[in-house]
Amino acid sequence: MTVERNYDLSAHNTFRMKVKCACFAEYGSVEELAGLDWDSLPRPLKHIGEGSNLLFTGDFPGTILHSAIRYVKYVDVGLDEVPVIAGAGVRWDDLVAELCGHGLWGAENLSHIPGEVGAAAVQNIGAYGVEIKDIISGVSCYDLVTRKSCKFTVDQCRYGYRESMFKEAGDRYVITSALLRLTRSPRPRLEYKGLSGVDASSPASIRNAVIDIRKSKLPEPSEIGSAGSFFKNPVISASDFVRVCNAATGVSVPHFVLDGGMIKVPAAWLIDQCGFKGEREGGAAVYEKQPLVIVNATGSATPDDVLELERRIVATVHERFGVSLSPEVEHLPK
Ligand SMILES: Cc1cc2nc3c(=O)[nH]c(=O)nc-3n(C[C@H](O)[C@H](O)[C@H](O)COP(=O)(O)OP(=O)(O)OC[C@H]3O[C@@H](n4cnc5c(N)ncnc54)[C@H](O)[C@@H]3O)c2cc1C
Repeated sequence: MTVERNYDLSAHNTFRMKVKCACFAEYGSVEELAGLDWDSLPRPLKHIGEGSNLLFTGDFPGTILHSAIRYVKYVDVGLDEVPVIAGAGVRWDDLVAELCGHGLWGAENLSHIPGEVGAAAVQNIGAYGVEIKDIISGVSCYDLVTRKSCKFTVDQCRYGYRESMFKEAGDRYVITSALLRLTRSPRPRLEYKGLSGVDASSPASIRNAVIDIRKSKLPEPSEIGSAGSFFKNPVISASDFVRVCNAATGVSVPHFVLDGGMIKVPAAWLIDQCGFKGEREGGAAVYEKQPLVIVNATGSATPDDVLELERRIVATVHERFGVSLSPEVEHLPK
């Protein structure tokens, strides 16, 4: 167990913001987590993973908790379905690589997503037509209010699009492990455009195709700092959609009609139409290949650079289309 004061978080956020927290506590087991000297830890408490969906807007005044629970257990009783329990601190993509290497199906479309298992279960990560909710059975947690361990089934997690009960509960539950269900029998999911026609002979071949596509579109966190998609895709009414179409002046607006008639419009398209691709603010920039992503272009962007670019994008998209963008990336401190 490590408990350090005035701790540098640069290596704990993929945006590479040079910020500190008053205290950093990393534990290697549920027992170590439960045994922390809670009363001595500065508040607020915030659990993070790899910090790949976070923007630190400044120093964090409280305690950052981090899991180093890093085991993977296979409950193989010879059936088609293979339950796998993974500690929350396992890197998600290391787990996917291992599962694909064993020829187990289910996680391959979720290849190359940054972050750790615990956060993957909080975020309901998704890509290429699959979400973690499709392969998760439940999670084990530590309740910071009752200071007791507890478990939740997948239904109790109440998963939605990048949503879960854990987000609604604030920072009450620390996920300590997740139970996944993989299969030996093939179940390739190739409905998503871009995956049709790929070699689907094994989970590993689909994984390789997914990694190739992702590398061609998204910044590699090891090379350029970012937190992935910065904004949520806005969901608007039919009348607001008409206003967007009018403002688009002759260009057809990509959209997706949801159950109930609301319309989802790609935030990337709105940002691109406002001419932000490649736009810079200090060391921050809108990624050239994907305008939904803000990057730490120089490696020395400050939180204020990112916040100012965010502010300009939100204001311009609102002025031009009347649509309010909201960030997908969580801002800390809030
Ligand atoms: C280049 C890039 C591409 C990306 N592509 C995708 C993608 O395709 N699909 C997708 O869904 N996401 C994507 N993301 C976003 C991000 O990778 C996911 O949201 C990921 O699950 C975050 O994991 P993390 O460990 O970094 O969590 P963090 O960013 O550290 O935390 C995210 C949230 O989870 C909470 N949390 C973390 N660990 C725990 C725990 N053990 N218990 C309780 N709460 C916890 C935190 O408090 C926070 O609220 C991408 C990000 C980047 C940088």
